[in-house]
Amino acid sequence: MTSIRPLVAGNWKMNGIDSSLAELGALREQLAEAPVAEADVMVCPPATLLSRAVEILAGTDIALGGQDCHPLPSGAHTGDISAEMLADAGATAVIVGHSERRIDHGENDALVKAKALAAYRADLTAIICIGETEAERRDGETLDVLKRQIQGSVPEEARAANTVMAYEPVWAIGSGLTPTLDDVAKVHGFIREVLGRLLGQAESEATRILYGGSVKPTNAAELLFVPDVNGALVGGASLKTTDFYGILAVYRDGAGG
Ligand code: PEP
Repeated sequence: MTSIRPLVAGNWKMNGIDSSLAELGALREQLAEAPVAEADVMVCPPATLLSRAVEILAGTDIALGGQDCHPLPSGAHTGDISAEMLADAGATAVIVGHSERRIDHGENDALVKAKALAAYRADLTAIICIGETEAERRDGETLDVLKRQIQGSVPEEARAANTVMAYEPVWAIGSGLTPTLDDVAKVHGFIREVLGRLLGQAESEATRILYGGSVKPTNAAELLFVPDVNGALVGGASLKTTDFYGILAVYRDGAGG
C-alpha cells in the first residue's frame, strides 16, 4: 500500500468572530517558525470568516474548508450556502455529513451524498463524516452503521483525489472519550475495506481516512499512528493554535514523541 500524506483539519463549528482570526495568524507564524512538512493542514472556520481567513493565510500551505454546503449551486434556499459560494470565498474543501448536521438537522445519507456531489461539482474536496452513536455502539452495531453510511453517503464518483473520509464516533465528539487504539485500527481497516468494494482497491488504498473525536495534543501521538489512520478532524482543540499545532506536530516528532 502506498503511503498516504496525512491531513489535520480543524473544524471550528459555530465558533469564531473577527477577533478569532488572530489564532490563524498565530498558526501561520508557528508553522513558519517550526514547519511540519510531514502533514497537510486545513482549517474550516465559519463561512462568515472564510474570505478574511484567505487574506491571513495567503502565501501559506494552510488550506481552508467549509463546514457544510447545500446540494444545489444557487437558488431560493434562505440561510444555505452552496459549494460554489464556498469555493468562491476561498475554500478548497467542505465537510459533509458531520454528525451535528445529521442529528441537529436530520440529514440522511442520501442528502450527504448529494452534498458530496455538490462539492465535486465546485471542485472542492468532500470530507465525508461517518460514525456510530453511543447506543449503536452499545448494541454492537458499529460496523453495520458505518457500512450503511458509506454505501449511502459516498458517491460512485468519489476518488482519493476528491474525497477524504472522517470516522467520528458520535460518543467521542467533545466528550473527552476515545475508542481504544485496537478499535480505531479495526474500524479504519473496515472502512477501507468497504470503500474498496465501492470504489476499487486502488482508490480505497489511496484515500485518507481521518479519525475525529476528542483528539488532543496529549492523545494525538497514539491515535494518529494507528494503522489506516491518515490524519485527524479536530473540533474543540482546533480553536486554540497551541493545541492544534500540538496535534499537528506529532507528525514531525513521531509516534510517542
Ligand atoms: C468534531 O466535531 O469534528 C470533533 C472531532 O470534535 P472534538 O474534537 O471536539 O471532539
